[in-house]
Amino acid sequence: MRARVRDELQKLLGDRVRFDVPLARLTSLRVGGPVEAVAAPAHRDELLSLLQTCSELQIPQRVLGSGFNVLAPDEGLPGVVIRLTRFRELETLPAGLRAEAGVSHSQITRRCSEQGLAGLEFTAGIPGSVGGWLTMNAGIPGREIKDVVREVEVASPEGRAVRRFEARELDFGYRELRGLAPGSVLLSALFEVTQGSAEAVRAAVDTLLAKRARSQPLDVPSCGSVFKNPAGDHAGRMLEAAGLKGFRIGGAQISPVHANFIANTGGATSGDVLALIREARQRVLEATGQHLDTEVHVLGGAA
Ligand SMILES: Cc1cc2nc3c(=O)[nH]c(=O)nc-3n(C[C@H](O)[C@H](O)[C@H](O)COP(=O)(O)OP(=O)(O)OC[C@H]3O[C@@H](n4cnc5c(N)ncnc54)[C@H](O)[C@@H]3O)c2cc1C
Repeated sequence: MRARVRDELQKLLGDRVRFDVPLARLTSLRVGGPVEAVAAPAHRDELLSLLQTCSELQIPQRVLGSGFNVLAPDEGLPGVVIRLTRFRELETLPAGLRAEAGVSHSQITRRCSEQGLAGLEFTAGIPGSVGGWLTMNAGIPGREIKDVVREVEVASPEGRAVRRFEARELDFGYRELRGLAPGSVLLSALFEVTQGSAEAVRAAVDTLLAKRARSQPLDVPSCGSVFKNPAGDHAGRMLEAAGLKGFRIGGAQISPVHANFIANTGGATSGDVLALIREARQRVLEATGQHLDTEVHVLGGAA
């Protein structure tokens, strides 16, 4: 990164910017080389100034949530990764639950369980931040974030405007949110919740967490589901049927517990994970004629 750019970022953010940070530290798969800068703006005005600076100096920028659904490249990334870790305000309002983009899944589950707020139980155990949930339209079979979002606030990529969208104006798809300008930053969401009983919410959450613990490899670094489910089938079932459970390349392994998870068994590189994704996809294609699309976001490229 050019010295002038470093200086500008430091002037703007002080110790809220760090340089040459390994992406492996910021992602749940624990792979990825260094990004030139990681910025954690303190508040909205600072974020908008940062976006303006990046736009003016033509520095590539992207937001990372909690890093639970990304694959970061071994060679690292140019530019700035923005993290909204200081955007953690969570308010219970008459209109719903308003959460800033950096609010974590556990904050939401805790709040709903404590206050008996019903509607978001299905998100229990979907690890990440509100910004990541919205971008991925995160969910479980039968229920997705789009079903509970009322409004979303978005900053334009150049940091010149903040716009509030009603849910019906947003184009959510299966594990995606389409239609926003590339580089847009999701700032907050208003979720629809209803007043229920704390016991009922807690019981629903416990049931879902127990189900996950039985069916997913939660004790190893992974990025959750690697492939999207094709219409009418399950990627995990197809991968298992192709004999891929336990198959490994380098330190990356198709989980013996759930075939749609790739585990970093220790020392995996991003290259190992990508090679495994491509090999698994090829084998399923040969066995079934079905091409599997990735759910995981491959930063700086495509799988
Ligand atoms: C063990 C495990 C289980 C999982 N189970 C599920 C599941 O049941 N259902 C499911 O849907 N997913 C699941 N996932 C995947 C993951 O939890 C979700 O995709 C989650 O939404 C990721 O949130 P994040 O904050 O970590 O996003 P990240 O992985 O950090 O980012 C994902 C994408 O969102 C973008 N992004 C994040 N924040 C913002 C923002 N504020 N503005 C603009 N763009 C942003 C990033 O640039 C990136 O492209 C699982 C993952 C793991 C590891």
